[in-house]
Amino acid sequence: MAEKEDPRQEKLPATEDAFGSQYVIIGGPEQKAERTNIIVMKFGGTSVADATCMKRVAQRIVEARRQGHPVVAVVSARGDTTDELIELAKEISENPPAREMDMLLSTGERISAALVAMAIHELGYEAISLTGSQAGIVTDTVHTRAKILDIRPHRILRALEEGKIVLVAGFQGVSTTQDVTTLGRGGSDTTAVALAAALGAEACIIYTDVDGVYTADPRVVPDARKLDFISNDEMLELTASGAKVMMLRSIELARRFNVPLWVRSSFTDDPGTLIGQEERSMEQAIVSGVTYALDDAKVTIHDLPDKVGVAARVFTALAKTNVNVDVIIQNVSEDGKADISFTVAEADLSKVAGVLDGLQDELGFSSFDLDKDVAKVTLVGAGMKTYPGIAAKMFETLAENNINIEMISTSSIKISCVIRKEHAETAVRAIHAAFKLHEGMITREEVFS
Ligand code: ASP
Ligand code: MG
Repeated sequence: MAEKEDPRQEKLPATEDAFGSQYVIIGGPEQKAERTNIIVMKFGGTSVADATCMKRVAQRIVEARRQGHPVVAVVSARGDTTDELIELAKEISENPPAREMDMLLSTGERISAALVAMAIHELGYEAISLTGSQAGIVTDTVHTRAKILDIRPHRILRALEEGKIVLVAGFQGVSTTQDVTTLGRGGSDTTAVALAAALGAEACIIYTDVDGVYTADPRVVPDARKLDFISNDEMLELTASGAKVMMLRSIELARRFNVPLWVRSSFTDDPGTLIGQEERSMEQAIVSGVTYALDDAKVTIHDLPDKVGVAARVFTALAKTNVNVDVIIQNVSEDGKADISFTVAEADLSKVAGVLDGLQDELGFSSFDLDKDVAKVTLVGAGMKTYPGIAAKMFETLAENNINIEMISTSSIKISCVIRKEHAETAVRAIHAAFKLHEGMITREEVFS
């Protein structure tokens, strides 16, 4: 059956455009929508895994509606549906067309949206499910990892005005060339935050299978503590350096549009963690969390002639091949030659090898090596900006555990150390204990003790 996939094809009165433009254009300048009492709720795959779960989700949505909030609920595909669909595609084709992957993967979320809408009807409330496209989510044309360009929420607003609860299939949109797109793994988080920004929602609540953001991964650090609050900036650093609670892009959007974002469990009544703007007045924790990533690899170029422009040549070539470089160090040059090491995603190693092979003759370095057995451990805390001694204590802790630091990188609110992969978990536990993250705030005196 033909479905109207592009919201722009709907016959909207001419004034609707003006109406739409008062809402946030995600790709454009940061206009803030008027704050409304709309609540955007997002339910992840485990929260809608089966009929029982979906009925529970419907109850939660209806509860929020009963409290007087217009509700937009974004749902993920059930359980492992997305993974199963990817497997299925692989059984058919080694390299399926990206457009068709998006047609396929977008169905998982649609199933959930329709079923939860039915569950809400059963509870006596009106609900309507919308695809990403029907919800007015316009993206670029990059299939399987599209970016949202614009949100045109006319249809959502109309449904809300009619008193309906709106279900939106997460993780998808419609491209500027009118194809179905998906937003990349974990993309329903981004759908939810983007909608909350566009609608000026009072809150965006991410319901998931953990009850909030923790000081470390509780599977690695059993006494990790749930945080009541974490700043956007800290959450961004934690997520970029390995924490898997939410999709990175969704945190960026929440920060940019100042969306009050909650992470809470869909199985308990715990309020969860608020991710928001740092309150200057609040007593700021010095450090908030420690995380680690195992998917980095280290590249070292040996005996690179120490001449103007050599580093630029290497990193420009990498950038042109779309390789993201993270930590970089260059050692002191000896006899006019220096070594440069840097980290990249392990998945990019073959691209890096290709680029360096191509540059070796031109630049005249002696060799390069690729090392997959590294991990990056990162300590994050907004209070670091104003407290000295944090880096020293982190390095000391690693030394006490006989863990060698191979590379270091810092920003104003994080310190990352590249170490051997096999030491990652020990390092995380030791740093967590040294900074007393299980207890709460470490004092200035304790940093130096
Ligand atoms: N279902 C998609 C995934 O598994 C999107 C999401 O759940 O956020 O990545
Ligand atoms: Mg997720």
